[in-house]
Amino acid sequence: MKFALAGNPNCGKTTLFNALTGATAHVGNWPGVTVDKRTGVYKKLPEKVDIIDLPGIYSLSPYTPEEIVSRNFLLDENPDCIINIVDATNLERNLYLTTQILELDVPVVVALNMTDILQAEGGRVDEALLRQKLGVPVVSISALKSRGIVELTEAAYRAAQSPRVGATVVDGELLQAVRSAEETYRGHGVGNALFHAVKAVEGDSLERETHAEVCAALDTVKATIDTGIFEGDFEGVVADIRYRYIDKELKSALVRKKRADGALGKSDKIDKVLTHRIWGIPIFLLIMFAVFHLTFSENFLYLGWLIPDSFDVPIIGSSAINSPGVMLFNAMVWLTDTLGGAIGGVMPEGTWYTGLICDGLLEGLFSVLGFIPQILCLFLWLSILEDSGYMARVAFIMDRAFRKFGLSGKAFMPLIMCFGCAVPGIMATRTLENEPERRRTVMLAPFFSCGAKLPIWAAFGGVFAQAFTGMNAEVVVYSMYVLGIAIAILASLLLKLTIVKGETPPFIMELPAYHAPRAKNIAVRLWEKLKHYCFRAATVIAGAIVVIWFLSNFSFTFRYVPDDSGMSMLGMIGKGLSWLFVPLGFGMGENGWKFVVAAFTGLIAKEMVVATMGTFAGMDGDEALETDGAELADTALGAMMLSIGGVLGGFSAAVPAMFAFMAFNLLSVPCMAAVAAAGGELNSKRKLWTAIGFWMLTAYLTALIVFWYGMLCVACWWAAMLVGIAVAGGIATLAVLKAKGLLAFGKKRAPGQGDAA
Ligand code: GDP
Ligand code: MG
Repeated sequence: MKFALAGNPNCGKTTLFNALTGATAHVGNWPGVTVDKRTGVYKKLPEKVDIIDLPGIYSLSPYTPEEIVSRNFLLDENPDCIINIVDATNLERNLYLTTQILELDVPVVVALNMTDILQAEGGRVDEALLRQKLGVPVVSISALKSRGIVELTEAAYRAAQSPRVGATVVDGELLQAVRSAEETYRGHGVGNALFHAVKAVEGDSLERETHAEVCAALDTVKATIDTGIFEGDFEGVVADIRYRYIDKELKSALVRKKRADGALGKSDKIDKVLTHRIWGIPIFLLIMFAVFHLTFSENFLYLGWLIPDSFDVPIIGSSAINSPGVMLFNAMVWLTDTLGGAIGGVMPEGTWYTGLICDGLLEGLFSVLGFIPQILCLFLWLSILEDSGYMARVAFIMDRAFRKFGLSGKAFMPLIMCFGCAVPGIMATRTLENEPERRRTVMLAPFFSCGAKLPIWAAFGGVFAQAFTGMNAEVVVYSMYVLGIAIAILASLLLKLTIVKGETPPFIMELPAYHAPRAKNIAVRLWEKLKHYCFRAATVIAGAIVVIWFLSNFSFTFRYVPDDSGMSMLGMIGKGLSWLFVPLGFGMGENGWKFVVAAFTGLIAKEMVVATMGTFAGMDGDEALETDGAELADTALGAMMLSIGGVLGGFSAAVPAMFAFMAFNLLSVPCMAAVAAAGGELNSKRKLWTAIGFWMLTAYLTALIVFWYGMLCVACWWAAMLVGIAVAGGIATLAVLKAKGLLAFGKKRAPGQGDAA
């Protein structure tokens, strides 16, 4: 037996699915999180029932991929019962789909969800009235609080025992047309005859393809019907009938408590501040900064001002308190150091396999694993923001600000997923119907710094914080995320004007009510992340480290060259390529080739950047590092920075080169998995190569600008400031002109495409 869960986006299907099946599917606050259907098993009925979570839809017409997936499932896979989930707080809009589902010859149960919110607001739904009007069982539930779930499944089980004949709300002249088409379909033995008949009358494109003769025969009947203001648009007529029916017969089932005049709900009050026209974006940037401060700061809440310099406790902090994320990181480093030391102690010295295991594999793996608790800490905060409903607002704010630059809120949602990992983010672009926008979004995806890139920023942040007072680690990490978003916005505009032209379609989304985040949802998400990273570390990354170690310890003549001075295969290749990166700063100096090699191994997986640095660290000596004034522990990064600083004339001059290196890694071709995903979504070799070229070019140019602007800052700060102000002013002026419509880029916008609803 199988039950299908069907309903509007965001009505709680996935939440109910998880509650029923004990599964851990991603509950998202936006449309498009569930593109494909998903199956689980419910075991608490007399027989096992397959539960199918269908993508969210507003109607059964074939306009979006979600609609097609859901429609085909309902028509072709013979579910024993459809559980139609209805968001009780948005009854009118949700029942529009219900009126279509009821036309199928399948047992239906309506689940009124979100009743907890309704209750809290003092409203209620008249179940009996709905049951009587719709002619199917109606059960009130709260998927989130697992209320009414048992009653719902029992009702569905009972309904599934007997067949049901579809019913329609279409009336008047049209009903006769529907009935005659239904007759014809029944005569041909077509299942769900009523549903097909209504679609044929609507003139539905899919119906025309599959049942051409019936539709053609109907056209003569339809020609005699007066459609008034709809001027022959039968789809419009039917939609109008459905809404009028809902308005007249069903709407009164929802009884809301009257609010005092002008008073706002709690969510509305919060939104007045958080989605404010002007303050929305600054608030978003501040919230993100707080998130990074909590994760990466070594001066938590800036308590360092109050704490004596003599304060020094391992893990907790020295002359300041570490943020929770840094404490986790320190604890993990202590653990891996202890473990590495113990293993190193029992291995024979000087053999190649000790080199491979201790200096290669363990150093490399530990440098990746060390960051995992900190990454999870970051995702904890991000998950809380997402689960509470804030991230959906971010899409809304971004839409309002940047749709004119070709970046709509709907595109922003998959991009936010890319903060976790670009692969699901790129796949989620499937929900964008507009092809140019979809292609643009895939091309922007890697600019949103993913979890695997985080160790790079954190590693540099750590070194900088140590070397320069005032350069906090969280500022370094934060700057990379902001740089990524800024470049994405600029690149989006550029793409829109050049290779991927096309308008941005209007964006309509509903903002879910804020609610306290659920510990279970968040725990599930973190657990998935942890599994994901550990799996990658154990497979792709460990494998790549071994390969890199061999390449960096053996020469082209297969001689073992452990103290690498660039004689190894990797050294030769890196040196051969490093001239390309001299203009970006980080290709300079005797160690420049190591950065180049690290950047290239990052193409396998971004974790490899620090893992490769880690294996290089295993080869470096242990002497303390001498810098001009800065204090620095001996790390691979520190040593490499020092050698670049040597060329540029001063340790601090290496900083612009390091930022250029980070920018290059942020924006260049993402990992292999993401490239494969992009290839799948772009579905064309030429388009994929265009994207790869675009990523490389963006990365190179941005890194070039970052390096030279940084050098200007180091050389003459006030000149740099003047240039900065001039450029920012120029961009702001252009943006204002563009927003006011005084600057015509490309095609004129069609009238009526206003802001997002
Ligand atoms: P889907 O798009 O239909 O799969 O919807 P989701 O299951 O992803 O849920 C959308 C949002 O609604 C999530 O933030 C859920 O936590 C929330 N939600 C789902 N069911 C309920 C409910 O019964 N009560 C409340 N308050 N929130 C719910
Ligand atoms: Mg869902």
